[in-house]
Amino acid sequence: MKVSKAGAVAATLAVALTASGCAEDAKEPIAIGIKFDQPGIGFREQDGTFTGFDVDVATYVAKQLGYKANEIEFKQVFSSDRELLIQYNEVDFVAASYSISDKRKEKVDFAGPYFIAHQDLLVRADDASVTKAEDLNSKKLCSVTGSTSAEKVKALAPKASVMELEGYSECLVAVQDGSADAMTTDNSILAGYAARKENTGKFKLIGLSLSNENYGIGVKKGNKELQKKINAALTKMVTDGSWEAAVKKNFGPANYKYEPAPMVTSGN
Ligand code: GLU
Repeated sequence: MKVSKAGAVAATLAVALTASGCAEDAKEPIAIGIKFDQPGIGFREQDGTFTGFDVDVATYVAKQLGYKANEIEFKQVFSSDRELLIQYNEVDFVAASYSISDKRKEKVDFAGPYFIAHQDLLVRADDASVTKAEDLNSKKLCSVTGSTSAEKVKALAPKASVMELEGYSECLVAVQDGSADAMTTDNSILAGYAARKENTGKFKLIGLSLSNENYGIGVKKGNKELQKKINAALTKMVTDGSWEAAVKKNFGPANYKYEPAPMVTSGN
């Protein structure tokens, strides 16, 4: 049977409309990778809503790209699978305490940076035995697979006994129950845990600045158009005051002394 082009299009449209119920639903949501277990950064609340600085940044960027908040699908990413999920189109972009690094740039591109954090240590509040990175050489240290923090541990404390877990919330449990003495990652993340109501008085940050972590938004390698659009959105977020409002809202409760907004540098 010979089907005219217009007929074929109409048939496809009819199927699409039937499948989605109505034409307005036809827009695909934008899929954004965030962390689900990092309070103040990327966190899934008990009621299923999402909070945190990365969530606010991602929502702002999505809006600039033409997506309303209810047209966003947040997907959980771990430190170790961010590149992979971008490469396999599981997400359109990742905003997940994701440091821009040369190694990662071999696999993905980054927009940004939009935030600067520093690697630090978190220990139990009553532990006075750790004041600097070298003190970890006789300690059990928890870190997360695939993170820049885990990579730096060997240089910081070569003799530390290191356990690598999937996420920072697991490390926190390990520090609390004594199976680890300390955990290491960005101070922005550690401050968020220490500030949780249920953690009051339990943990402290040492206050070191062991690295500079420039958070970027990861996109598919070669997608220069999206990278450019996200850079424009991030720049706008800073100039219209939304960035400052978002850091205050998300890091204020943790009393975290954040750095000023970095310059967005195109073509990361
Ligand atoms: N910012 C660091 C990184 O991208 C540590 C935080 C994380 O693992 O998400 O690896």
